[in-house]
Amino acid sequence: MKLLQEIVGHKQSVKILFKAVAGGRVAHAYLFAGPEGVGKETTALSFARALLCSSPTGGDACGVCRECRQVSGGNHPDFSLVEPSGSSIKIEQVREIQRRAPYRPYQGGRKVFLIRQAEAMTAEAANCILKTLEEPPADTVFILVSARPQLLLPTILSRCQAIYFKGMAASEIIHGLVTLKGISGEEARLYASLAGGSMGRALSYASGSLLSDRDEANALAGALRQCGPLEAVEMAEKASESKPRALFTLDTLACWYRDLMVCREAGDAGCLYNTDRVDSIKKEAGQYDTARILEIIEEIESTRRKIEVNANTRLALETLFLHLSGGSAG
Ligand SMILES: [Zn+2]
Repeated sequence: MKLLQEIVGHKQSVKILFKAVAGGRVAHAYLFAGPEGVGKETTALSFARALLCSSPTGGDACGVCRECRQVSGGNHPDFSLVEPSGSSIKIEQVREIQRRAPYRPYQGGRKVFLIRQAEAMTAEAANCILKTLEEPPADTVFILVSARPQLLLPTILSRCQAIYFKGMAASEIIHGLVTLKGISGEEARLYASLAGGSMGRALSYASGSLLSDRDEANALAGALRQCGPLEAVEMAEKASESKPRALFTLDTLACWYRDLMVCREAGDAGCLYNTDRVDSIKKEAGQYDTARILEIIEEIESTRRKIEVNANTRLALETLFLHLSGGSAG
Protein backbone atom coordinates (compact mmCIF):
# COMPACT_ATOMS: atom_id res chain seq x y z
CA MET A 1 0.00 0.00 0.00
CA LYS A 2 1.31 3.40 -0.97
CA LEU A 3 1.80 6.47 1.19
CA LEU A 4 -0.09 9.55 0.00
CA GLN A 5 3.23 11.14 -0.90
CA GLU A 6 3.98 8.19 -3.19
CA ILE A 7 0.86 8.69 -5.32
CA VAL A 8 1.90 9.44 -8.90
CA GLY A 9 0.22 12.58 -10.27
CA HIS A 10 -2.97 14.14 -8.82
CA LYS A 11 -0.89 16.72 -6.93
CA GLN A 12 -3.82 19.05 -6.19
CA SER A 13 -6.14 16.31 -4.94
CA VAL A 14 -3.50 14.78 -2.72
CA LYS A 15 -2.63 18.20 -1.30
CA ILE A 16 -6.24 18.69 -0.18
CA LEU A 17 -6.11 15.33 1.63
CA PHE A 18 -2.76 16.07 3.31
CA LYS A 19 -4.15 19.36 4.59
CA ALA A 20 -7.33 17.75 5.91
CA VAL A 21 -5.42 15.13 7.91
CA ALA A 22 -2.70 17.49 9.13
CA GLY A 23 -5.16 20.21 10.14
CA GLY A 24 -7.65 17.78 11.66
CA ARG A 25 -10.36 19.24 9.42
CA VAL A 26 -11.66 16.07 7.90
CA ALA A 27 -15.05 16.00 6.18
CA HIS A 28 -17.66 13.37 7.10
CA ALA A 29 -17.87 12.14 3.55
CA TYR A 30 -15.71 12.31 0.44
CA LEU A 31 -16.43 11.41 -3.14
CA PHE A 32 -13.38 10.36 -5.15
CA ALA A 33 -14.55 10.81 -8.72
CA GLY A 34 -12.76 10.27 -12.02
CA PRO A 35 -12.22 7.84 -14.86
CA GLU A 36 -11.40 4.16 -14.42
CA GLY A 37 -7.82 3.27 -13.61
CA VAL A 38 -6.42 6.73 -12.80
CA GLY A 39 -5.62 6.01 -9.15
CA LYS A 40 -8.77 6.93 -7.20
CA GLU A 41 -8.86 3.70 -5.23
CA THR A 42 -5.15 3.64 -4.55
CA THR A 43 -5.42 7.20 -3.23
CA ALA A 44 -8.56 6.37 -1.22
CA LEU A 45 -6.77 3.49 0.52
CA SER A 46 -3.75 5.66 1.27
CA PHE A 47 -6.05 8.38 2.61
CA ALA A 48 -7.91 5.88 4.79
CA ARG A 49 -4.62 4.72 6.24
CA ALA A 50 -3.50 8.31 6.91
CA LEU A 51 -6.81 8.89 8.72
CA LEU A 52 -6.30 5.87 10.98
CA CYS A 53 -2.51 6.10 11.51
CA SER A 54 -1.53 6.59 15.15
CA SER A 55 1.41 8.87 14.34
CA PRO A 56 0.81 10.65 11.03
CA THR A 57 3.46 13.10 9.87
CA GLY A 58 2.56 16.09 7.73
CA GLY A 59 -0.85 14.60 7.01
CA ASP A 60 0.49 11.28 5.73
CA ALA A 61 0.48 7.83 7.31
CA CYS A 62 3.69 6.64 8.93
CA GLY A 63 3.30 3.26 7.23
CA VAL A 64 4.78 1.28 10.12
CA CYS A 65 2.57 1.65 13.22
CA ARG A 66 0.13 -1.07 14.23
CA GLU A 67 -2.81 0.84 12.71
CA CYS A 68 -1.02 1.29 9.39
CA ARG A 69 -0.08 -2.38 9.25
CA GLN A 70 -3.63 -3.41 10.06
CA VAL A 71 -5.11 -1.22 7.31
CA SER A 72 -2.58 -2.63 4.82
CA GLY A 73 -3.38 -6.14 5.96
CA GLY A 74 -7.12 -5.57 5.68
CA ASN A 75 -7.78 -6.27 9.36
CA HIS A 76 -8.15 -2.90 11.06
CA PRO A 77 -11.33 -3.09 13.15
CA ASP A 78 -12.26 0.53 12.37
CA PHE A 79 -11.76 0.23 8.62
CA SER A 80 -14.42 -1.27 6.37
CA LEU A 81 -14.18 -1.77 2.65
CA VAL A 82 -17.56 -2.11 0.95
CA GLU A 83 -17.79 -3.21 -2.68
CA PRO A 84 -20.44 -4.62 -5.01
CA SER A 85 -21.46 -8.14 -4.19
CA GLY A 86 -22.21 -9.46 -7.65
CA SER A 87 -23.29 -6.53 -9.77
CA SER A 88 -24.55 -4.18 -7.06
CA ILE A 89 -24.10 -2.91 -3.52
CA LYS A 90 -27.14 -4.24 -1.71
CA ILE A 91 -29.28 -2.80 1.04
CA GLU A 92 -28.00 -5.45 3.51
CA GLN A 93 -24.47 -4.17 3.01
CA VAL A 94 -25.53 -0.61 3.78
CA ARG A 95 -27.53 -1.78 6.83
CA GLU A 96 -24.34 -3.40 8.11
CA ILE A 97 -22.60 -0.02 7.77
CA GLN A 98 -25.43 1.63 9.65
CA ARG A 99 -25.26 -0.96 12.39
CA ARG A 100 -21.56 -0.31 12.95
CA ALA A 101 -21.34 3.42 12.36
CA PRO A 102 -22.82 4.67 15.68
CA TYR A 103 -20.26 2.82 17.84
CA ARG A 104 -17.10 4.47 19.06
CA PRO A 105 -13.91 3.52 17.23
CA TYR A 106 -12.28 0.42 18.72
CA GLN A 107 -8.70 1.59 18.46
CA GLY A 108 -8.05 5.07 17.29
CA GLY A 109 -9.85 8.30 16.77
CA ARG A 110 -11.93 7.38 13.74
CA LYS A 111 -13.86 4.83 11.76
CA VAL A 112 -13.47 4.79 7.99
CA PHE A 113 -15.86 3.25 5.48
CA LEU A 114 -14.54 3.05 1.94
CA ILE A 115 -17.22 2.31 -0.67
CA ARG A 116 -15.84 1.18 -4.03
CA GLN A 117 -17.94 1.61 -7.17
CA ALA A 118 -20.43 3.61 -5.14
CA GLU A 119 -22.63 4.09 -8.22
CA ALA A 120 -23.41 0.37 -8.02
CA MET A 121 -25.63 0.89 -4.95
CA THR A 122 -29.18 -0.22 -5.58
CA ALA A 123 -31.84 2.51 -5.22
CA GLU A 124 -32.76 1.11 -1.81
CA ALA A 125 -29.13 1.01 -0.69
CA ALA A 126 -28.54 4.56 -1.92
CA ASN A 127 -31.55 5.91 -0.03
CA CYS A 128 -30.39 4.07 3.05
CA ILE A 129 -26.83 5.47 2.99
CA LEU A 130 -28.26 8.92 2.37
CA LYS A 131 -29.88 8.84 5.83
CA THR A 132 -26.50 8.12 7.39
CA LEU A 133 -24.81 10.88 5.40
CA GLU A 134 -27.51 13.33 6.48
CA GLU A 135 -26.83 12.65 10.14
CA PRO A 136 -23.23 11.51 10.12
CA PRO A 137 -22.08 9.70 13.24
CA ALA A 138 -19.17 11.33 15.10
CA ASP A 139 -15.62 10.31 14.21
CA THR A 140 -16.73 8.54 11.05
CA VAL A 141 -15.42 9.19 7.56
CA PHE A 142 -17.06 7.84 4.42
CA ILE A 143 -15.04 7.66 1.23
CA LEU A 144 -17.16 6.95 -1.84
CA VAL A 145 -15.21 6.06 -4.97
CA SER A 146 -16.88 6.26 -8.36
CA ALA A 147 -15.98 6.40 -12.04
CA ARG A 148 -19.59 7.33 -12.84
CA PRO A 149 -20.69 9.81 -10.17
CA GLN A 150 -23.47 11.02 -12.50
CA LEU A 151 -25.30 7.82 -11.57
CA LEU A 152 -25.32 8.72 -7.85
CA LEU A 153 -28.27 10.49 -6.23
CA PRO A 154 -27.74 14.26 -6.31
CA THR A 155 -28.64 14.30 -2.62
CA ILE A 156 -25.71 11.98 -1.93
CA LEU A 157 -23.36 14.08 -4.06
CA SER A 158 -24.30 17.21 -2.15
CA ARG A 159 -23.32 15.54 1.16
CA CYS A 160 -19.82 14.67 -0.01
CA GLN A 161 -16.70 16.73 -0.50
CA ALA A 162 -15.73 15.89 -4.07
CA ILE A 163 -12.11 15.14 -4.90
CA TYR A 164 -11.63 14.94 -8.66
CA PHE A 165 -9.16 12.69 -10.41
CA LYS A 166 -8.40 13.51 -14.01
CA GLY A 167 -6.77 11.24 -16.50
CA MET A 168 -3.04 11.75 -16.13
CA ALA A 169 -0.93 13.62 -18.65
CA ALA A 170 1.09 11.34 -20.91
CA SER A 171 4.31 12.91 -19.61
CA GLU A 172 3.39 11.98 -16.01
CA ILE A 173 2.64 8.41 -17.04
CA ILE A 174 5.87 8.09 -19.03
CA HIS A 175 7.84 9.41 -16.08
CA GLY A 176 6.03 7.01 -13.75
CA LEU A 177 6.66 3.99 -15.98
CA VAL A 178 10.32 4.77 -16.46
CA THR A 179 10.86 5.23 -12.72
CA LEU A 180 8.64 2.43 -11.45
CA LYS A 181 9.26 -0.19 -14.12
CA GLY A 182 12.69 0.82 -15.39
CA ILE A 183 11.61 0.48 -19.02
CA SER A 184 12.88 2.57 -21.92
CA GLY A 185 11.37 5.94 -22.73
CA GLU A 186 10.23 4.72 -26.12
CA GLU A 187 8.37 1.74 -24.69
CA ALA A 188 6.87 3.96 -21.99
CA ARG A 189 5.61 6.37 -24.69
CA LEU A 190 3.76 3.55 -26.44
CA TYR A 191 2.06 2.38 -23.24
CA ALA A 192 1.23 5.93 -22.15
CA SER A 193 -0.33 6.62 -25.51
CA LEU A 194 -2.43 3.45 -25.39
CA ALA A 195 -3.47 3.98 -21.77
CA GLY A 196 -5.55 7.12 -22.36
CA GLY A 197 -4.66 8.84 -19.09
CA SER A 198 -4.88 5.74 -16.93
CA MET A 199 -1.76 4.87 -14.93
CA GLY A 200 -3.31 1.51 -13.99
CA ARG A 201 -3.80 0.58 -17.60
CA ALA A 202 -0.32 1.80 -18.57
CA LEU A 203 1.13 -0.46 -15.86
CA SER A 204 -0.86 -3.41 -17.21
CA TYR A 205 0.51 -2.72 -20.67
CA ALA A 206 4.01 -2.50 -19.21
CA SER A 207 3.64 -5.83 -17.46
CA GLY A 208 2.77 -7.34 -20.83
CA SER A 209 -0.70 -8.50 -19.91
CA LEU A 210 -2.63 -6.11 -22.13
CA LEU A 211 -0.57 -5.90 -25.32
CA SER A 212 -1.83 -9.20 -26.71
CA ASP A 213 -5.42 -8.26 -25.76
CA ARG A 214 -4.94 -5.03 -27.65
CA ASP A 215 -3.62 -6.87 -30.71
CA GLU A 216 -6.61 -9.17 -30.59
CA ALA A 217 -9.04 -6.25 -30.37
CA ASN A 218 -7.27 -4.38 -33.17
CA ALA A 219 -7.43 -7.46 -35.38
CA LEU A 220 -11.21 -7.45 -34.92
CA ALA A 221 -11.51 -4.29 -37.01
CA GLY A 222 -10.03 -5.88 -40.12
CA ALA A 223 -11.77 -9.21 -39.51
CA LEU A 224 -15.16 -7.55 -39.15
CA ARG A 225 -14.69 -5.55 -42.33
CA GLN A 226 -14.30 -8.76 -44.28
CA CYS A 227 -16.79 -11.05 -42.56
CA GLY A 228 -20.48 -11.82 -42.84
CA PRO A 229 -23.22 -11.40 -40.22
CA LEU A 230 -22.89 -14.84 -38.65
CA GLU A 231 -19.21 -14.41 -37.92
CA ALA A 232 -19.87 -10.90 -36.63
CA VAL A 233 -22.36 -12.27 -34.11
CA GLU A 234 -19.83 -14.90 -33.03
CA MET A 235 -17.15 -12.27 -32.52
CA ALA A 236 -19.59 -10.18 -30.48
CA GLU A 237 -20.34 -13.14 -28.28
CA LYS A 238 -16.66 -13.71 -27.60
CA ALA A 239 -15.91 -10.04 -26.95
CA SER A 240 -18.80 -9.76 -24.51
CA GLU A 241 -17.65 -12.53 -22.15
CA SER A 242 -17.43 -9.88 -19.45
CA LYS A 243 -18.31 -6.23 -19.24
CA PRO A 244 -14.71 -5.07 -18.56
CA ARG A 245 -13.52 -7.04 -21.56
CA ALA A 246 -16.24 -5.53 -23.76
CA LEU A 247 -15.34 -2.02 -22.63
CA PHE A 248 -11.65 -2.67 -23.20
CA THR A 249 -12.40 -3.93 -26.71
CA LEU A 250 -14.47 -0.82 -27.46
CA ASP A 251 -11.77 1.54 -26.15
CA THR A 252 -9.13 -0.28 -28.15
CA LEU A 253 -11.23 -0.24 -31.32
CA ALA A 254 -11.94 3.49 -30.89
CA CYS A 255 -8.17 4.15 -30.68
CA TRP A 256 -7.59 1.96 -33.72
CA TYR A 257 -10.14 3.73 -35.94
CA ARG A 258 -8.94 7.06 -34.68
CA ASP A 259 -5.43 6.03 -35.80
CA LEU A 260 -6.80 5.11 -39.24
CA MET A 261 -8.33 8.55 -39.48
CA VAL A 262 -5.16 10.33 -38.36
CA CYS A 263 -3.22 8.30 -40.91
CA ARG A 264 -5.65 9.29 -43.72
CA GLU A 265 -5.93 12.95 -42.78
CA ALA A 266 -2.61 13.91 -41.25
CA GLY A 267 -0.32 11.18 -42.55
CA ASP A 268 1.71 11.78 -39.40
CA ALA A 269 2.80 8.63 -37.58
CA GLY A 270 3.90 10.75 -34.60
CA CYS A 271 0.30 11.33 -33.51
CA LEU A 272 -0.78 7.69 -33.51
CA TYR A 273 -1.85 5.78 -30.37
CA ASN A 274 -0.56 2.49 -31.74
CA THR A 275 2.91 3.82 -32.49
CA ASP A 276 4.22 0.28 -32.97
CA ARG A 277 1.71 -0.61 -35.71
CA VAL A 278 2.35 2.04 -38.33
CA ASP A 279 2.48 -0.36 -41.27
CA SER A 280 -0.81 -2.15 -40.57
CA ILE A 281 -2.48 1.21 -39.89
CA LYS A 282 -1.36 2.57 -43.27
CA LYS A 283 -2.62 -0.54 -45.02
CA GLU A 284 -5.96 -0.63 -43.24
CA ALA A 285 -6.58 3.13 -43.55
CA GLY A 286 -6.92 2.77 -47.31
CA GLN A 287 -10.00 0.59 -46.86
CA TYR A 288 -12.24 3.37 -45.52
CA ASP A 289 -13.08 6.97 -46.25
CA THR A 290 -12.89 9.50 -43.44
CA ALA A 291 -16.65 10.00 -43.13
CA ARG A 292 -17.13 6.28 -42.61
CA ILE A 293 -14.40 6.16 -39.94
CA LEU A 294 -16.03 9.05 -38.07
CA GLU A 295 -19.36 7.25 -38.20
CA ILE A 296 -17.74 4.12 -36.78
CA ILE A 297 -16.05 6.01 -33.95
CA GLU A 298 -19.36 7.63 -33.03
CA GLU A 299 -21.10 4.30 -33.03
CA ILE A 300 -18.40 2.77 -30.82
CA GLU A 301 -18.81 5.64 -28.34
CA SER A 302 -22.58 5.29 -28.24
CA THR A 303 -22.25 1.51 -27.73
CA ARG A 304 -19.88 2.19 -24.84
CA ARG A 305 -22.37 4.55 -23.19
CA LYS A 306 -25.17 2.01 -23.55
CA ILE A 307 -23.10 -0.69 -21.86
CA GLU A 308 -22.06 1.67 -19.08
CA VAL A 309 -25.67 2.28 -18.15
CA ASN A 310 -26.24 -1.47 -18.09
CA ALA A 311 -27.67 -2.26 -21.50
CA ASN A 312 -27.20 -5.92 -22.43
CA THR A 313 -23.51 -6.11 -23.34
CA ARG A 314 -23.82 -8.87 -25.90
CA LEU A 315 -26.75 -7.30 -27.74
CA ALA A 316 -25.04 -3.91 -27.84
CA LEU A 317 -21.85 -5.42 -29.27
CA GLU A 318 -23.82 -7.50 -31.75
CA THR A 319 -25.54 -4.43 -33.14
CA LEU A 320 -22.22 -2.62 -33.47
CA PHE A 321 -20.33 -5.53 -34.98
CA LEU A 322 -23.10 -6.19 -37.51
CA HIS A 323 -22.80 -2.56 -38.66
CA LEU A 324 -19.03 -2.94 -38.96
CA SER A 325 -19.17 -6.21 -40.84
CA GLY A 326 -19.22 -7.02 -44.49
CA GLY A 327 -17.43 -4.78 -46.95
CA SER A 328 -17.98 -1.38 -45.42
CA ALA A 329 -15.35 0.27 -47.57
CA GLY A 330 -16.31 3.89 -48.21
ZN1 LIG B 1 0.96 4.77 11.06
